[in-house]
Amino acid sequence: MKANIDIYFDSSLRIAPKVDASMRKQLTLVLDLDETLIHSSKVKPVEGKFEALEILKSDGTKHLVYIRRRPHLEQFLEKVSKEFKVVIFTASRMEYADAIIDLIDTKDVITYRLYRDSCSRGSNGWVKDLSKIEPNLNRVILLDNCRAASTLQPENHLLIKSWFYDETDDHLLHYTNFLLDCAKKWRTNMLKIRDLRRCLKEFVTAN
Ligand SMILES: [Mg+2]
Repeated sequence: MKANIDIYFDSSLRIAPKVDASMRKQLTLVLDLDETLIHSSKVKPVEGKFEALEILKSDGTKHLVYIRRRPHLEQFLEKVSKEFKVVIFTASRMEYADAIIDLIDTKDVITYRLYRDSCSRGSNGWVKDLSKIEPNLNRVILLDNCRAASTLQPENHLLIKSWFYDETDDHLLHYTNFLLDCAKKWRTNMLKIRDLRRCLKEFVTAN
């Protein structure tokens, strides 16, 4: 019997379900916060650019921190988010990290956030298990200033020099180009094996 599709047609299906563009992206970029994207201090800096931020702690008390943004941060987030799901994975506590992420994520590109309670303690520092975010480890990169963070998956680590206040630092600019190049190779099937860890290995060897 010929089905009459009109009978079953639901007009609401004309409108495609709203899918966040970031959900369609195949690649994930996991970003550390402190000394990778920003530097913060409880002591007011005597010079240079900084922002004062009030942190509301879980016990109801408030305290001020002074934030410096690493040079090229805004452009970095905007550009990499066109190709990667961008996730923050920090060993800092939620109340501190959220206040900073809300400040720096001006274009609302950060997909989700993991904090200290998602890290485990290693002998050299906090360890971040990337498989909690992306079980397919061939498509995830961790950008972090701390080597110990990637103890479980060192091949996924793009190590970045710790940043504190140098306004001439251009690591984020340099890494933007590398990350976009990786994503392009992935999209256009230029990788013999679709595995970002190969890109990282070549990059580390060349630099
Ligand atoms: Mg760090």
